[in-house]
Amino acid sequence: MIFRQLFDTTSSTYTYLLAERKGGEAILIDPVLEHTEQYVRLLDELDVKLVLAVDTHIHADHITALGSLRNRTECATAMGEKTGAECVSVRFSEGEKLSVDNLHLDILYTPGHTDDSYSFMCADRVFTGDTLLIRGTGRTDFQNGDPAAQYDSLFGKLLLLPEQTLVYPAHDYNGMTVSTIGEELRHNPRLQVAGRQAYIDQMNALDLDDPRLMDIAVPANRSCGFHAAA
Ligand code: FE
Repeated sequence: MIFRQLFDTTSSTYTYLLAERKGGEAILIDPVLEHTEQYVRLLDELDVKLVLAVDTHIHADHITALGSLRNRTECATAMGEKTGAECVSVRFSEGEKLSVDNLHLDILYTPGHTDDSYSFMCADRVFTGDTLLIRGTGRTDFQNGDPAAQYDSLFGKLLLLPEQTLVYPAHDYNGMTVSTIGEELRHNPRLQVAGRQAYIDQMNALDLDDPRLMDIAVPANRSCGFHAAA
């Protein structure tokens, strides 16, 4: 498998490139608009063809490269069925797969951070978006976030995966790049709760500032990264 983890220093966003083989098809998860040319160059250098760009959810902190990559490479663009983005060419739902060559991403619906948050299982790893972060979890206080739904997504789905499953989140703010389900079960402070209500109370007690780009990024990302006319 060809696998690359790319990082946007402005928004601390991870973007993932996956392909089964040289000369084959590639997928990008959570690409960032400003890095479009970097992705195109890397795809060329790795000798893979981008066929699909996908977002785990509508991001509030950066603008997606789905639209710019579609224009540059003619790739398909995908988001979950719960997303309001009408610009995408593929809508996926839980239980379906996204595939490039013989590489398959199994789709899990993991709402809570937003109501359109999805995670993708691929072989020994899971891409958790902002549902499960390394030693943290995604905030639940905007975009129809819901701490109860997030608890269910975590404890009813993601944390039931085999403990050795590698965890690749959509962000990290502390220099961590990868974890495992077992490591997060034991060491993620947000997960050391007595139960569902304790998790809800914990999330509701967070008092966070809005992301700097939120008012620009959310509407832009509903149209694949293209700004609506002001
Ligand atoms: Fe997010």
